[in-house]
Amino acid sequence: MEWTRRDLLKALLALGMGVVAPGLASCKPSSGGEVKPPPIRYGRSVCATCGMIINEAKYSAGAVLAEGTGLVFDDIGCMVLYFRAHPEAKPLAFFVHDYPTEAWIRAESAFYVVSPRILSPMGYGIAAFAQRSQAEGFAQEKQGQVLDFAQVRVLSLSQAQP
Ligand SMILES: [Zn+2]
Repeated sequence: MEWTRRDLLKALLALGMGVVAPGLASCKPSSGGEVKPPPIRYGRSVCATCGMIINEAKYSAGAVLAEGTGLVFDDIGCMVLYFRAHPEAKPLAFFVHDYPTEAWIRAESAFYVVSPRILSPMGYGIAAFAQRSQAEGFAQEKQGQVLDFAQVRVLSLSQAQP
């Protein structure tokens, strides 16, 4: 995770310069290659849905559209809401972070824990896991439930009061 530390440094240097980056970045897949998650500059990149600065890797998410545009979000709930509000958008791939390791993982194959006790940035209370067993343990701890991505995409989302 060397780049994260570097980006944090850059973000610190950029403090006071105001917010300039919209939640857009180009990340067209290289010819025939694997689609890469869109870059997030923590403390600087802005959520494409709510406009908040993205600070926490473990709750943030990203999507790559068919034309190569990358979208980044501070909360998995914000990504879900973005694609409900933009049915014309053609997502090529969705990405979330594995909650324990903060590594990017494909959203389609992740396990999600949903609980009002998970204090995600916008309060949707969603955390993603690469391993089902870890998701189940966390769900027990937070009195939540384990869902797959299809279930998360149709979840009734409201911002929990902390
Ligand atoms: Zn957001």
